[in-house]
Amino acid sequence: MRVRENVPISSLTTMRLGGPARFLIEVETKADVASAYAFARSQNLPAVPIGTGANTLGHDEGFNGVLIKNVMTGITEDPDNPGIITAMGGTVWDDVVEYACKKEYTGIEALSKIPGLACAAPVQNIGAYGQDVSQCFYNADVYDSETGEYKTLSKEDFRFSYRKSIMNTTEKNRYFIIAIRLQMQVGRMNRPFYNSIEEYITKHNETVFTPLNVRKMVSAIRAEKLPDPATTASAGSFFKNIYITEEEVYQITSRGIPIHRGNDGIKINSGWLIEQCGLSGQLIYGIRVNPKASLVLINESAKSFNELAAARNFIMNTVLEKYGFKLQQEPVELV
Ligand SMILES: Cc1cc2nc3c(=O)[nH]c(=O)nc-3n(C[C@H](O)[C@H](O)[C@H](O)COP(=O)(O)OP(=O)(O)OC[C@H]3O[C@@H](n4cnc5c(N)ncnc54)[C@H](O)[C@@H]3O)c2cc1C
Repeated sequence: MRVRENVPISSLTTMRLGGPARFLIEVETKADVASAYAFARSQNLPAVPIGTGANTLGHDEGFNGVLIKNVMTGITEDPDNPGIITAMGGTVWDDVVEYACKKEYTGIEALSKIPGLACAAPVQNIGAYGQDVSQCFYNADVYDSETGEYKTLSKEDFRFSYRKSIMNTTEKNRYFIIAIRLQMQVGRMNRPFYNSIEEYITKHNETVFTPLNVRKMVSAIRAEKLPDPATTASAGSFFKNIYITEEEVYQITSRGIPIHRGNDGIKINSGWLIEQCGLSGQLIYGIRVNPKASLVLINESAKSFNELAAARNFIMNTVLEKYGFKLQQEPVELV
């Protein structure tokens, strides 16, 4: 394993903010994982897993702890269990999607181009365009830092819901994900797809609906609206959408707020609320509200987490005052 000291969190996260992490350990083998946690214990420091930092924010004072990064890569299939693919946690998530689509497996094509590693995908149950990873999740090999055991956790163990699993709620920072397994589907893809994919199909006269072609469409839609982490500092959607109950629908729509019904429930698009507050495209404390997708905040010139926090608070307060909804932040803060 590779241990580095005082590594700027700004270099480990796509928002590119944050002071030094006391230690960063890259784990190259399963045995390394236990050693990395033993190292953290020996230093009396907390240990937190990190991937590419696409959903993680660093504070200006840094993180007095040990960040542990999975750098084990590879995608395999067991001939005895057809359709189940195993991705080592350090594999780039989009490589997993590309692999599945090339094999004509369906289930994750709409999750194309989501930045990050395979190990982080189940943590917040990544989702886009009507799919989320829980839909085809099978299980994960993990290290339990509380008991020191290597285990396999099932889909049920993860208790997935919208942008949630036990990994970012009840058991936050307890388990280190070594590898994930997905149960892929084979067969026809059923239309209608998610709204924006259907709009793309109509606009571009698409007639081929293979996983690879849907992947191509999703990639094109994303490239149009979302920043590329390679060139633009952001953490993707900064706020979660708001899920409501059937009982709340009338009261909300009668206020002129549009709702969206999908497989995952009834939601209010938080980006719409931000737009209606006139904040889309605005530069607030060096943070730009993405004019093409208002949920996404871009770090244009902020030099500190405090500036980001000020921009976030301003947006949240403006939406709260106008609509009475308290937006929830999606990215996690390293504390
Ligand atoms: C431009 C952009 C677009 C995005 N679009 C989407 C989108 O469409 N949908 C979506 O859901 N998300 C989206 N995101 C958010 C992000 O891509 C996902 O949350 C992704 O899974 C983060 O991966 P990561 O490797 O960067 O994880 P990190 O940000 O490094 O970590 C995320 C969480 O996973 C935990 N973690 C990391 N590794 C492990 C491990 N080995 N074991 C246990 N826990 C671990 C961390 O502790 C942290 O809590 C977007 C982000 C950006 C920048």
